[in-house]
Amino acid sequence: MNHITQRLHQTIRTVPDFPKPGIQFKDITPIFLDADLCDDIATQIINRFQQQNVRIDAICAIESRGFFIGILIANKLRVPLFPVRKAGKLPAKTKSYTYELEYGNATLEIHTDVVKPGWQVMIHDDLLATGGTAMAAAELIRAEGGSVAGFSFIVELNFLNGRQKISPYSNCIVSLVNYT
Ligand code: AMP
Repeated sequence: MNHITQRLHQTIRTVPDFPKPGIQFKDITPIFLDADLCDDIATQIINRFQQQNVRIDAICAIESRGFFIGILIANKLRVPLFPVRKAGKLPAKTKSYTYELEYGNATLEIHTDVVKPGWQVMIHDDLLATGGTAMAAAELIRAEGGSVAGFSFIVELNFLNGRQKISPYSNCIVSLVNYT
């Protein structure tokens, strides 16, 4: 286990039965108490993309826990960031994508004036579970004329196979800590 993975394991808190019985919620908020750790997460994600020679024109940060590290990554790379948000939160003209959850469904939205033609976009969220959320963001970016440079997450819940769901969009999928 490398140094950053070890620090993340020590920092992320597992809260049982939140928000409902049976869910082991990975609480990443303690990460943000540690400025050096935040910086190292963003640097590590950028390094992994650079090792694979992946060009990044912009960052798509997924509401809401994707915003924290997403903006650090964008700022270090000096590239634009735009959010993908839950339905009804973005004020200007939007496009939406509805996807299935375990129970019911959810809708994500993107502003229609943010993606420039041909942009290669890194999609960032705090955690990869089933992959439905990241896939919805990928669909929105494609619908807007961009392409998916890759995906980055702090945490991956490997047993939910999200990687399989999103790999058709890009094979550059970076996560820093895995739970199997
Ligand atoms: P999914 O669409 O199933 O990949 O779920 C990913 C989204 O749900 C992310 O935005 C996470 O913040 C959140 N999420 C799903 N499962 C968990 C979990 N066990 N702990 C914390 N967040 C979770």
